[in-house]
Amino acid sequence: MTTEVPPETDPGLPDDLDVSGLAAGPHEDEPHAGGLNNRLNWLRAGVLGANDGIVSTAGIVMGVAGATSDRGTILVAGVAGLVAGALSMAAGEYVSVSTQKDSELALLEEERRELRDEPEAELEELAGLYVGKGLSEDLALEVARQLTDHDALGAHAETELGIDPDDITSPWNAALASMLAFTLGALLPLLTITLFGPTLRLWVTVVSVTVALALTGWGSAKFGYGPSRRAVVRNVVGGLFAMAVTYAIGSALGTQV
Ligand SMILES: [Zn+2]
Repeated sequence: MTTEVPPETDPGLPDDLDVSGLAAGPHEDEPHAGGLNNRLNWLRAGVLGANDGIVSTAGIVMGVAGATSDRGTILVAGVAGLVAGALSMAAGEYVSVSTQKDSELALLEEERRELRDEPEAELEELAGLYVGKGLSEDLALEVARQLTDHDALGAHAETELGIDPDDITSPWNAALASMLAFTLGALLPLLTITLFGPTLRLWVTVVSVTVALALTGWGSAKFGYGPSRRAVVRNVVGGLFAMAVTYAIGSALGTQV
């Protein structure tokens, strides 16, 4: 005699729910913690670095062009401004990312020590964090157990500290990237103001800087998920203001000196 066992059914989910894609992770066009956010941070940092290069170098060359029409003088001032700005950006980025990296590594080391010395307390702590996120106590403990078995440090780093241990930014990379971004941005006003003759150079520079700042403003809003039209207007107005001020000061000084 055989006993028929009814096929097991999952009570909570519809039978036809397709879970085959879950292992692939979140949808590609949605922001989520991890690789995509990190890439966006890099893009945003690059856009902001280029923006700095455009505005500060445009200010310098417009200021000098207000005082003199001598191409060599404008070029020297622009190149000096480019190099000084790029190195200053690199140094600032190196210092700030180094500090961040030191503190992240110290936090991870502390977490590693706690996991080694008091694993039970750490498991409870992790489960408590999931309860705080809205899971029931039983489920939170189960999630905490499985994640601890899988990668205890990674789970604590992500949930408790908001750090991905495999993805700590290198200060040298950050410094190099912001230096390159600033230089790329700075080259635009430097080239337009030195390649065109005295009658055209100011206008070509103003127009090309306006277009470039519209693009970087749009990009920084895009990568930051903010409204882009206001960002474009703010960015362009800020750049035009900087050029107007330095040009006025350059002109005033140029007639007196
Ligand atoms: Zn912990």
